[in-house]
Amino acid sequence: MRKWRQEHPEYSRKWKEANKDKVIECRRKWNKTHPEYLRKHYEANRDKAIEYGRKYNRKIKMMALSMISKKIECINCGCDDIRLLEVNHINGGGTKESKILGAGCSLWLKIISGKRKTDDLDIRCKVCNTIHYVNLKYGNTQHIISYQK
Ligand SMILES: [Zn+2]
Repeated sequence: MRKWRQEHPEYSRKWKEANKDKVIECRRKWNKTHPEYLRKHYEANRDKAIEYGRKYNRKIKMMALSMISKKIECINCGCDDIRLLEVNHINGGGTKESKILGAGCSLWLKIISGKRKTDDLDIRCKVCNTIHYVNLKYGNTQHIISYQK
């Protein structure tokens, strides 16, 4: 059976595509009954899994940010270090929204899928995002941030 499948990859792919739910359900059941295998598999491929996750996150983030603004940089200081850039809620409420959405990249995914409008969002680096939050909460704190490229 395995050999036949290897010789007919196109058929196998089509079958999987048509029976997606079945395949997922089957894999879920198998995973439940083989926790030891899963653990070993994860440990053996840990670095790869982490690296893959990192790349995926970066891609999603870039896509979401490019939908907010053509220029992917902090609107306040011009920082363009992707690791530091964040989606900023212009009117505040970011913490509240991320609590509702759950941690991780759900906001990015919502933006990409078009389920989340971007008119109340802009791009800021972590530093400017914090200052923006502080200013909203306490009034202007007179901080000046500069970024040397
Ligand atoms: Zn900044």
